Order: sequence, then structure tokens, then C-alpha cells
Amino acid sequence: MLTVLESINLSTDYLKNKGIESPRINAELLLAKILNCKRLELYLSFDRPLVEKEIIQYREFIKRRSNFEPLQYIVGSVEFYGLEFEVNRSVLIPRQETEILVESIIKKYENQNEIKVLDIGTGSGIIAICLAKYLPNAEVVAIDSSRDAINVAKENAELNQVKEKISFMDSDFNKFASSSENEFDLIVSNPPYISSSEFLNLQPELRLYEPRQALTDESNGLSFYELISKKGKTLLKKNGKIFFEIGQNQASAVKKILINENYNNIQIQKDYLNIERVICGELN
Ligand code: GLN
Repeated sequence: MLTVLESINLSTDYLKNKGIESPRINAELLLAKILNCKRLELYLSFDRPLVEKEIIQYREFIKRRSNFEPLQYIVGSVEFYGLEFEVNRSVLIPRQETEILVESIIKKYENQNEIKVLDIGTGSGIIAICLAKYLPNAEVVAIDSSRDAINVAKENAELNQVKEKISFMDSDFNKFASSSENEFDLIVSNPPYISSSEFLNLQPELRLYEPRQALTDESNGLSFYELISKKGKTLLKKNGKIFFEIGQNQASAVKKILINENYNNIQIQKDYLNIERVICGELN
């Protein structure tokens, strides 16, 4: 029987040969999931033999990872902003950068009384759920055109005990915008902002496994900023604000879009890598 250490070593070599980045950490995290322990706890049980059931499952996980399936889909969950979220292939995997978007909203609104928030393209629900959790007076509407994504988001809201503060709708944004009027204090979105040409160059983990419609607008990457800024004007209250996550090098183009649509007081924030990542504006 293979021990923990032997199976990690074999799997590391296998993943490395298949071109997977950080093969050792991947091998460790996948085994930790199977043994239901923390990665570092594996180091205390290097000599423990794996039983057959564990080996079979580990082999399956390693095979999936070697085919470039993202680790997060295999283990089925991700930590984001200190909370736990379930993920599967119907939703974009939460990214660390998005924590900056969430944090800047929480900072701006934490002392405010009631606010009504709209999260467009909620995916796994991370933005809506963090805002509902950390802004006690927020009422959130979260929409996504994918019904499968909305189902994941609902489960995550339940997992994080904010179900009653969020209304989830599987709805196309255009349809939603025409049925609702000037009721939101805040619109937030992390829309698909990768252009169709950039999409072709994405690493296989993203290109082959994450939902294509969550990554690219099939155009120049800016079309959702245009659409949401424009229609957002009929959804926001006076002095309402709009917050977007943006891709690398999109800040000036998105700023221009917001200004053209009469938003002012535009602010841009950088991420940990010094890339302009969050933009916000206020409706006149
Ligand atoms: N709102 C979700 C997130 O930030 C999904 C975004 C998307 O699918 N483009 O991760």
C-alpha cells in the first residue's frame, strides 16, 4: 500500500510531466480533500498508508487535474473574503482581485442605513453574499442569465446564512432593466470582460473549463460596461453609485464610458499587483 508521502510524490511527478503549474501543492491539496484534513496536516501523517478507496479517488482527482480541470472545481469549494463558497463548472471561480471590489463597497457603505443593491452576473453569488453578510442593512437583488449559476448562488446564500436578504433571479439584464425603475442605491458587477481575441490565449484551465459566457463578451471586452452604465441610469436612485471590476488596461476606456453616460466622481482602485482593478462612479 502506498503511504501519504509516496502517493504525493508520485502524483507530483505525474502532474509536473503533464505541465501543471505548482504540481506539489496541487497534489497535496487534492489528497487533503480526500483525507478531509488541512494541507499541512498531511505532513504529520506521511507514513500513513492509504486505503484502496482513497487511492482510487486520488487517482481520479489527479487524472482530472492533469487534464487541466481547475483544482477548485475538483474540490468543489473556494474561500473568498473569509467565507466558504461552493463552486462547479456552471460558475466562474472566485478570484482574489474581486475581494478588492467587495471591500471597497463595504468600506463606503458600512455606516449607512438601508441600501438596496443590484449585483449583475452574480455567478457563484460571492459579491451579493459578502455584501449581504457584512452590510447588515443591505437588501440585495442578484441576477444572472444562467439558471445553473443562480442555483449555485442560492445554495451559497444558504450556506452563509443570508438567504432571506437576497432575491435571486435568473434573468437577462436587458429584460430585468426594462421591468425595474430607480430603486437601487448601488449597482455592482464583475462582468465578462475578456475580449474574444484574448479568450483564445487564456490558459487551458480557464478556456476549457470555466463558463465561456462568464469570461468573454465575445466582443472587445467593454460591451457589458457600456450596457450596464447606460441601463443602470434607469435603475439607480439619484446619487446612486455603480461599481465595476475591470480587466488589465481597461480603466481609461471604462472611465470614458461612465463619463459619457453622465456618471461623475469616478474613482479607480488598484489590486495587489498594482493593476487598476475597480472603478466606481456616481450618477448626477
Ligand atoms: N460575480 C461573480 C464573481 O465575481 C461572477 C462573475 C462572472 O461570472 N463574470 O466571481
